[in-house]
Amino acid sequence: MRHFDMPDSSLSETQVTALRTALSDPRFLIKGHFELSSRKRHSPFYFAKDQVLANARLAAQVSFWIADAVIEEDVQTIVGLATSGIRLLHGVADAVARLHPNRHLASVFADKDDDGKFVFKRGSIKELRDHRRVVIVEDVLTSGTSVKQVADLVRAHGGYVTAVGAICRRGRITAETLGVPFLQALLELDLPTYSTPNNCPLCRADTPLSSEFGHG
Ligand SMILES: [Zn+2]
Repeated sequence: MRHFDMPDSSLSETQVTALRTALSDPRFLIKGHFELSSRKRHSPFYFAKDQVLANARLAAQVSFWIADAVIEEDVQTIVGLATSGIRLLHGVADAVARLHPNRHLASVFADKDDDGKFVFKRGSIKELRDHRRVVIVEDVLTSGTSVKQVADLVRAHGGYVTAVGAICRRGRITAETLGVPFLQALLELDLPTYSTPNNCPLCRADTPLSSEFGHG
């Protein structure tokens, strides 16, 4: 039984455009005054990834797109980032399973230790040892720091990162910035961010910072 109305092969340009339009809806691309996680920069926009992934249909569609865009034939493992990236990891793994029902693909996540450093738990290390060609998936790339750390971790365990797939990238993050051969993001947002409160027009106008959203 198929749960979603999605094709077995690639999404058409029209479908991808429709998906990009859906993600740019003000429910997901929210206007306000936000503090982003990357170096505490401020921005008048916030991409509400949690709202996107809470929408089962949209989550399935973005997962399908990522699976379609970055899971080449030689990829053996998909890696996600704990904790918020786990939902996307499962979505992409599920999409791959439906796209390629006869193919074995390991799906593991990088956990965080008590100091907030990314680590792989024992079972994940074993999968990586046996399935070395890795794609990393992440919901939003803001500074890329977390993905860079996880890519280093994959390499430290003998893996090779072939690509990074993301729903959204901000801040002109490129494959080069991340130190990986290939980066594909469904939504590319080149939105203004401001380095300090002094440079932020919203701070200067005394607009309160959003307490509901931020750090994305
Ligand atoms: Zn501000």
